[in-house]
Amino acid sequence: MRVVWKTYLRLLGYVRPYALGMALAVFCMAVLSATTMVYAFLSGPLLASLLRGDAGALGEVAVWVPQLKDVINRGDKQALMLLLPLLLLGVAAVKGVAYAGQFVLIRGIGQRVMADLRNALFDKMLTLPVSFHETRQRGDLMARFTSDVQNVEQSVTDASADAIRHALQVVGLVIQAFLIDWQLAAACFISVPATFWPVSRFGRFLKRVGSEGQARIGQMTSQVQETLHGIRVVQAFGGEEAARTGYREQARRFVRLMDRSVLARGLYSPTMEILGVIGIGILLRYAGGRIVAGELSAERFISFITCMFLLYAPIKAIGKLSTYVINGVASAERLFEVLDAPITIADKPDARALTRARGEVTFRDIRFRYVGDEVLRGVDLTVRAGEVVALVGPSGSGKTTLLALLPRFHDPVRGQVLLDGVDVRDYRLRDLRRQIATVTQDTVLFHATVRENIRYGRPDATDADVEAAARAAHAWEFIAALPRGLDTLLGENGVNLSGGQRQRVAIARALIRDAPILILDEATSALDTESESHVQAALNNLMKGRTTLMIAHRLSTVRRADRIVVLEAGQVVEEGGHEALLARGGTYARLAAHGERNADVDALAG
Ligand code: ADP
Repeated sequence: MRVVWKTYLRLLGYVRPYALGMALAVFCMAVLSATTMVYAFLSGPLLASLLRGDAGALGEVAVWVPQLKDVINRGDKQALMLLLPLLLLGVAAVKGVAYAGQFVLIRGIGQRVMADLRNALFDKMLTLPVSFHETRQRGDLMARFTSDVQNVEQSVTDASADAIRHALQVVGLVIQAFLIDWQLAAACFISVPATFWPVSRFGRFLKRVGSEGQARIGQMTSQVQETLHGIRVVQAFGGEEAARTGYREQARRFVRLMDRSVLARGLYSPTMEILGVIGIGILLRYAGGRIVAGELSAERFISFITCMFLLYAPIKAIGKLSTYVINGVASAERLFEVLDAPITIADKPDARALTRARGEVTFRDIRFRYVGDEVLRGVDLTVRAGEVVALVGPSGSGKTTLLALLPRFHDPVRGQVLLDGVDVRDYRLRDLRRQIATVTQDTVLFHATVRENIRYGRPDATDADVEAAARAAHAWEFIAALPRGLDTLLGENGVNLSGGQRQRVAIARALIRDAPILILDEATSALDTESESHVQAALNNLMKGRTTLMIAHRLSTVRRADRIVVLEAGQVVEEGGHEALLARGGTYARLAAHGERNADVDALAG
């Protein structure tokens, strides 16, 4: 329970910026509550005016409006019959304005709170490390933006507002009931809860018996289903008779249960009503005595009864609120779980700035694990500035993981990744990542124009830069042939590009970034020969003058590397040139031979 309150209070913190609007809304609610009180009050005079032709208690309170007082004192029935409806209309108008006011304010604040929460959530998700995203289901994260935020809105704004509104109504009406006749009120407020509790218990009991019957029908249905499903077996084994008797027995028991349930449900309403009438009867008896004794006017009694009736709705509503609050708090906890998730990869307080690295990369005794076993087990590797290194090795040997350490998608458990001789953890994260362009296996293009997709590599690139990058990526020809050229929309409702074309757009994006280091995860899917040669030419342009770390899947790509590094089970097992490694007859030779035998594009890396 304490946790619930803590979460709830924290949620209320999101409403604080809108405190003024909230205060205004509460004011509207107070007005709303006051108008309800006026309605209750007027019910007595209304009846009096119809029955006796005077306005009864209205006269007592009308002292502050002389004209009103005149009309009432004169006992002018005609005028009274006009006055009372007008008064009601006036109250209704005030009530309407107050209702609309609080409604608009509360919903408006609710929308803003939701927007704030969504923004905070999105900001957080953008900065949370890759490891967070890898361990979460995307659908689950998406649900936090939609249903959870909505639940929270219902509980923070709607439910809080309703609680205040209903509470104000209850307080107002209770005060009024005491003002009308404190003895009667005291008697009611002591006896009503005392009777209400057993009544509601009885009601719940009757309902439970009713729903039990509904549940049983499910069992019968599944028996039919099972028998029909296995009808061949039933018939082949002569099980019809047993099935028949079993089913009849179930049906018989069901009818009996239903009889009880129907009886219970049938009795529910009348029982409730009779109990209610008993309560009213007692009230009438008590009040009647006082009316006869001249201690209470009939008119006041009517106002009193109206109060009691008007109390029913807000009290019932308050009882229902807890479900909203509980839902909202559960959702809020899911939101806060994300908002509080630690950002494990962030700048050190005194992080170094870096404009442009030379591009020397060193992995020093790297050990890494996700959960469970070590995936990298002491990797040492130095890549000189401008060198092209191909990583090969069986699937799961740790190639992708190793390269993910350079842009700090993960930090190693032990060991260091150095860029130009400095631990990557000492640089500002933004600066570090600016040194790296990545072309991944599954080309990620956004639902945007070709131009925007290319410019993503460097947002301040000019149109001329974009075109030059597209040309160097061997993409200009097909882009120019698109319906709107560079301004063609890609994805979902836009144009779909072929695999090779998508790769070349991604290469253009990497080219325009003009980073000193390139991380390349070669696509495994085979392209047609022409596409392939364009992609290869584009990659050649991209790799020129950059330190390149690539996961190579094809012999043709590997041959372009200055050095081949073979990984196996999280360790570097061989390194050198293609010919030398073949001659060694080790892992590389095995992988290469396998590739040639099977014409397998995926031979060198999984
Ligand atoms: P490669 O790129 O050589 O195929 P990876 O670096 O992808 O190898 O994977 C190395 C090992 O780490 C594999 O056993 C893989 O199952 C495991 N692994 C990779 N990514 C994750 C992850 N996000 N969470 C847990 N284990 C992972």
